[in-house]
Parts: sequence; C-alpha cells; structure tokens
Amino acid sequence: MVARRITILGATGSIGLNTLDVIRRHPDRFSVYALTAGTRAEELASLCREFRPDVAVMADPAAAERLAGLLSDLPDIRIKSGPEGLCEVASASDADTVMASIVGAAGLPPTLAAVRAGKRVLLANKEALVMSGKLFMDAVAASGAEVLPIDSEHNAIFQCMPADKIRDPESAGITRILLTASGGPFRESSAESLRSVSPAQACAHPNWSMGQKISVDSATLMNKGLELIEACWLFNTTPARVEVHVHPESIIHSMVEYVDGSVLAQLGSPDMRTPIANGLAWPERIDAGVAPLDLFSIGRFHFEPPDLVRFPCLRLAAEAFESGGTAPAVLNAANEVAVAAFLAGNLCFSDIPVIIERTLAATAVVSADSFETIFAKDTEARERAMEQIALLTV
Ligand code: NAD
Ligand code: MG
Repeated sequence: MVARRITILGATGSIGLNTLDVIRRHPDRFSVYALTAGTRAEELASLCREFRPDVAVMADPAAAERLAGLLSDLPDIRIKSGPEGLCEVASASDADTVMASIVGAAGLPPTLAAVRAGKRVLLANKEALVMSGKLFMDAVAASGAEVLPIDSEHNAIFQCMPADKIRDPESAGITRILLTASGGPFRESSAESLRSVSPAQACAHPNWSMGQKISVDSATLMNKGLELIEACWLFNTTPARVEVHVHPESIIHSMVEYVDGSVLAQLGSPDMRTPIANGLAWPERIDAGVAPLDLFSIGRFHFEPPDLVRFPCLRLAAEAFESGGTAPAVLNAANEVAVAAFLAGNLCFSDIPVIIERTLAATAVVSADSFETIFAKDTEARERAMEQIALLTV
C-alpha cells in the first residue's frame, strides 16, 4: 500500500468535498498536504481545522487575509494566495497526488503545474484539457505524470480498457467508445419551453448533485460536448469513434466496444466518490462510502440518441474539436461567459448556444502552438462573448 500525500485544488467544491469524504475514511492511506479554494474562506477554514494541511491557498487575496484571521490559532498552517500560490502547492515536492477540481479555465495553470511536476493528477477539471488538448497531453508525456480520469464517464472508460493501452485503444481491439449522458433535466422539454427555464430548474439535475456551472452544462448538453473532446484527448481517438448514448438512469457510466463484439460497461450508483476512490487508490480498490447498487429497484435501462436540434451545444463542441487549434478554447471561454450570464439572470437558457456559436464565428482560429496563445484566445473569446450578450439584450 502506498501512503499518499494530497493537494486538493478546489477543496470547497462538490468534487473537493467528495474527495475529502473518501480521504476521511482512510487516514492510514491518505494525508492532506494542501487545500485550496476561490473565495470561500470560512468553508476552507473549517476544512483546515479537520484535515490540518501544511498549506492553505485562497485564489482571492482578500479571502486569504480572512482565512489568516480565521486560522490565527493554527500558525503551523501556511497561508498563500493567488494563482502563484495554487501553482506552488500543485507542484510542491511534498505532495505526490493532485486532485484537479477547480471549475473552468482558472484550473488550467495549477493543473498544468502538477502535470509538469510529474504528479499523479486526478483530472476532474475537464475545461483545462478541452482548452489545451494536445499541449496538455504533450506535457503529460514529457513529464511522465500519471493522469487518471475522474469524470465518471472517462473513469468508466478507463476501467473498461487495458490500463497499458489507454493511449492506443485500436491496438487493444477497441472499435468504439459509448459515452453515456443523462440527458439532463430538460431531456423531455419542448424547444419552446427551454426559453423560459430558470437557473434553479437548470441546476436541479435529476441524478447528480454537482456545482452550478457543470449542472448548467449538463442541462445544455455542453457537458457532453466537453466530455467528447476530453475523451478524444485522453484516449487518443476521434469523435467518429465516440458515440453519445443518452441513458437517463445514469447507472451505466460509459462503455467500450471491442472488435469481437464484446461491450464492457462500468456500472454504479451516480456518486462521484466511486471514480474519486478509483483514482486515489488505483490500481487498488478502497471503500468509497457508496451505497451498493440495487438493480432490482432500478428495473430498466433506457437509451436514446441525443437531440442535437434542441441541444446544439453538443454539435458545437464536436465542430470546435474538428476545427482544431484554438477553437475548443474559444468554445470553452464562450460557454463559461454565457453560463455565468444565464446564472446571473442576464441571458435566457436557449441563448447559451447562440452566444457560443456567434463567439466562435467572431474569433479567428489560430494554431494552438503555446499556452500563451491559448490564454490570449481565452481572453479574446470572453470579450467577444460579452459583446454578443450585450447585442442580444439591448
Ligand atoms: P464547484 O463549483 O462545486 O467547485 C469549484 C471549486 O473551484 C471550489 O472549491 C471553488 O472555490 C474553486 N474555484 C472556483 N473558481 C476559482 C478560481 N477562479 N480560482 C481558484 N479556485 C476556484 O465545481 P464542481 O462541481 O466540484 O466541479 C469542479 C470540476 O470538476 C469542474 O471542472 C467540473 O466540470 C468537474 N466535474 C465535476 C463533477 C461533479 O460531480 N461535480 C463531475 C465531473 C466533473
Ligand atoms: Mg461526466
């Protein structure tokens, strides 16, 4: 058994708290080196009291000051702030494992720092990989980092493949990946009714409890679009070999089809502690605190193809991947801006794909030859997306 020392990027989020719940069950196996959060100092302070990390980082400097005040009786915990603080704890030699669970583009720099430092990187932050695909995977190859997928679908696919062939699925006889999707809360809603859905309705996912941004992404099907791109990079394949299957029960987390006709699936309750425990302990198995699956009470599984007319985000993501270069980074940035505007009540739900499509049309694709180019396109696309939102709402 390897005792692991862990940094959790985004400790106060849905994935971060689930990770800490698994760690709490195995004090002999895991200890916490660093915990980080964006702005919620009070929540990070109470996690620090329980897990006693060496370092705590707040991305927001004012929140770091609040945290220092809240933890003044625990001087052994060093407090840092800003993107530099995040990158420092992601690459520190005192940690061997980094849970990358910051939401959105803000997670790319520290996730990349962990990759470059050759860590075991538990990748929940799919946006980082979508933005920088090839450069990210090149950095993994160069450093020898061990990237394990935490997204439930990608973790399922990983579990259904021979571990030494995940970057060369064809040589393992794999013909297709069947990527499952719940279909989100509006799977059966009419196109017309999608204009007036509220943020609360969009965040009420039928099967999973998650952060707000990914909940909205699940409702638009952009989450599946980002996951399609994520699967192509992680498993070195193409969209033609990845087929999305809407499976409303969210019990089959994805499947892998082999040339002999075998289809392997990974099943389980919709609980992120399963893929998190798989990544933390891999190749061993540990208790995750997840209730055993009761197939009798579930009874039936259903499957249907995704509806790309009501949910254009999946099509937009596939097209951005095909365009290549900086297009996926632009798609991601426009989506982040549009989702934030929707959550703030400044954009209607069905205009999210409209903003993304217009932003893609207004932002030239260039070769993604450096991280600087990708960050510059991210900034440019955010400006274009804001302009498009302003045009729609006048
Ligand atoms: P969340 O909103 O619940 O938590 C996000 C975390 O990131 C928080 O700790 C927050 O403080 C931190 N954060 C936010 N903005 C930041 C910034 N600018 N700088 C530094 N830290 C910042 O999100 P979540 O649902 O836990 O999702 C996290 C990531 O995992 C996302 O990329 C998401 O797509 C992915 N993911 C989540 C789930 C899930 O079940 N929640 C499943 C699969 C993948
Ligand atoms: Mg997922």
